[in-house]
Amino acid sequence: MALIVQKFGGSSVANAERVMNVARIVTETYAKGNDVVVVVSAQGDTTDDLIEKAKEINPSASKREMDMLLSAGEQISISLLAMAIEKLGFKACSLLGWQAGFSTNSVYGAARIKKVTAERIRLELSKKNIVVVAGFQGLNKYDDVTTLGRGGSDTSAVAIAAAMHADRCQIYTDVDGVYTADPRKVPGAVKLDEITYDEMLELATLGAQVLNNRSVEMAKKYNVVIEVLSSLTRVPGTLVKEAVKMEKMLVRGVTKDANVARISIIGVPNVPGIAYKIFGKLAAENINIDIILQSVGRDGKKDITFTTSRDNSEQAVKVLKGLELGENLSIECDDTNVAKVSVVGAGMETHPGVAAKMFEALFEADINIQMISTSEIKISVLIDAEHADDAVRAVHDAFIPDEK
Ligand code: ADP
Ligand code: ASP
Ligand code: MG
Repeated sequence: MALIVQKFGGSSVANAERVMNVARIVTETYAKGNDVVVVVSAQGDTTDDLIEKAKEINPSASKREMDMLLSAGEQISISLLAMAIEKLGFKACSLLGWQAGFSTNSVYGAARIKKVTAERIRLELSKKNIVVVAGFQGLNKYDDVTTLGRGGSDTSAVAIAAAMHADRCQIYTDVDGVYTADPRKVPGAVKLDEITYDEMLELATLGAQVLNNRSVEMAKKYNVVIEVLSSLTRVPGTLVKEAVKMEKMLVRGVTKDANVARISIIGVPNVPGIAYKIFGKLAAENINIDIILQSVGRDGKKDITFTTSRDNSEQAVKVLKGLELGENLSIECDDTNVAKVSVVGAGMETHPGVAAKMFEALFEADINIQMISTSEIKISVLIDAEHADDAVRAVHDAFIPDEK
């Protein structure tokens, strides 16, 4: 008998019909003789709706209360799914994150899982139940409910698979696998049979929300093979694992990340220690920085521009204003009009010309590049947000041939 973890995202449980559909998938798996642990997200747009409800009352509500509120979405899904499973004549038991043994740190809204004891899950499995666990949530050392950050149910599923040494970890969603670009935006996107953890981690971090990046990080750490597949069409999905069969494709994916803000500090003194002062303080405030660009000094002054996520931009500007970096400087923040487009592929490290090809595709689409950053397996450019979808399509078409 195998232990199978199956996770279903918000769209897979969006309404009663979809919940019954999920109940059929999990009971079929159980009926084949497997132990089944199911992880579910909140239905449809529930989490967004709860955030809106909070904003109506208090736009700067404490993060603790936000987590208390947002965790409610998953509680609805687990109970409804357990009822649906019972309706099909099978035994089910729903569990909240804390009941399933999820301990996290205390970073409300972005908590990290420290441990999953899974004792209660094991107990319920031994009673022949299909166990339905609320994704996205845990409990901290103060016995407060925490959430793992948007898209965190993927990580809950991988954490259970790792803790219980599951035989399979299946992430069911509304597309039938990982594609070379968002298949809803890029008609020519190609489904990948397999992708490495490192490539998937880059794609997820750079905007492909099909998997949450922390779930991929955890899967790599504990060697959990993830299978991404559709809850609506029964076709083989994509395997995310350590090593994959060699493919000729140089670029494995093109992504867009619209959650980007660009901040410029114009006219800082051209003396040593300025970058340290700025980025040291931002790091101390837990503000993640992405691309950094510094101009050549002129007349004793220089400009420093960097990107961060939109949700951090206000705080970053506040930190910079408090730094007293010099006289007559100005701080500019654009947190609505920029987006990042990236190409990812492990093969590009050893192939010259990938950057040039990307820039050529953007030039031909008449799209201006504001900033560039590269690593061994990715190239990112910052561009106007309004051109981002066109840019993804242009770059995708330049790299991904019609037939794989
Ligand atoms: P779930 O609710 O199941 O967690 P998400 O909305 O988080 O689903 O993720 C699935 C969505 O990710 C798809 O509907 C698709 O539009 C989007 N997506 C973005 N990039 C990719 C990609 N490279 N491959 C597949 N899907 C992608
Ligand atoms: N419901 C949460 C969200 O919308 C978690 C998830 O879907 O994975 O972000
Ligand atoms: Mg998701």
